[in-house]
Amino acid sequence: MAQHSQALDLEEALTAIRQQLPSPCEQETCVLEAALGRVLAQPIDAALPLPPFVASAMDGYAVRSADVNADSTYTLREVGTSFAGHPYPDHIPAGHCVRIFTGAAVPKDADLVIVQENVAEQLGDHVTFVPHTTQENHIRDIGNDVDQGQRLAEPGERITPFMLGQFAAAGISTLQVFPRVRVGIFSSGDELRDPGTPVEELAYGQIYDSNRLTLAKLLDDLPIHCIDLGCLPDDPNKIDDALGRATDACDVLITSGGVSVGDADYIVERIRQHGELAFWRLNLKPGKPLAFGQIRKRWIFGLPGNPISTIITALLVAKPAIAHLAGTTMSTPMKIPAILKSSITHTTGRTEYQRGQFEFDDNGYTVTHTGEQGSNRLSSFRHANCLIEIDKTQGDMQIGDPVLILPLTNLLH
Ligand code: AMP
Ligand code: MG
Repeated sequence: MAQHSQALDLEEALTAIRQQLPSPCEQETCVLEAALGRVLAQPIDAALPLPPFVASAMDGYAVRSADVNADSTYTLREVGTSFAGHPYPDHIPAGHCVRIFTGAAVPKDADLVIVQENVAEQLGDHVTFVPHTTQENHIRDIGNDVDQGQRLAEPGERITPFMLGQFAAAGISTLQVFPRVRVGIFSSGDELRDPGTPVEELAYGQIYDSNRLTLAKLLDDLPIHCIDLGCLPDDPNKIDDALGRATDACDVLITSGGVSVGDADYIVERIRQHGELAFWRLNLKPGKPLAFGQIRKRWIFGLPGNPISTIITALLVAKPAIAHLAGTTMSTPMKIPAILKSSITHTTGRTEYQRGQFEFDDNGYTVTHTGEQGSNRLSSFRHANCLIEIDKTQGDMQIGDPVLILPLTNLLH
């Protein structure tokens, strides 16, 4: 494993991760109903054309266009009906029409559907039409949407509801997908108590563990099995035991806390002891200490413990990495140019991601930061709908300055 002793920029870290992490080699069969969010392992080709027969796009009358009169009213005799699922089986004689509804098969001789709004009156089987021109035939030919055998999706694509609809329509009922990645999540720190512990039982100096829950939910939409592994104490032997046991059941371990340079920070040291450390510092704010490596042949991300640092590094580093392990391409997050509506204090050296609230109006995108940005302040995410990226080369920024924003909706899914 390539080892980097210096602090890496975010892009360098993602490249290093991409170079280390393999693509999945196993695959499994999945029914459509269970396939949302899974990653395709094999291409999907349509089993039939769509539509599979010549179909009407409107409610109206199927006719021969030679019988239509654009200059005056004209009358045709109705010989039958074609409903969706119940086609009219015979020929249409000249001067006749077939009542037809959206999605029904267009009878053989018809080359035009006249919409029912063009009917002047109907007396018995005599249908009289108003004069009209026919720019549109309101007929969907075989394969007008999808040809038989057409490629609908490639390996590596994640299944969306839209794809599921198209696969179902195209006669596909099962898919080959990559297995879910088994992701074990630990917290770390003697001060942490499980959420649900009564407030009065919280001893002086203790806090609730919020990172484990947040991490599990931040990764929730990925095709993974998320395994809650509890909390690691600040004790190297116990950390070794717990990490060792976890490597049996997980492909990836994520820890938060204990990754910095404090006297009770053991994660980096334990990775070095029992595995390999690729890097452990980023030029990133928040999120400077971040360890990535292997321990007992499993991947491990040691995220920083401050809740905002945990969230930012999970979104920008761990999540794309796990998506890669799950078989998708590690895509770069969407960035939108915006204009600052509040000034920002920033020291050069590390690229910073502040929480912001963007708006879109006639002048384009503008963004305001959400107030104090300390890495412990979960309240900085209240009202945030984006991250504001402030490059490491940038100094203080003023109202009116251009900046890039990363919408949270895009980072979350
Ligand atoms: P550490 O990196 O372990 O020194 O942790 C940095 C800060 O994050 C400390 O204030 C910790 O108490 C806090 N912290 C660490 N883990 C968690 C967690 N799971 N939930 C909430 N806060 C945490
Ligand atoms: Mg700690």
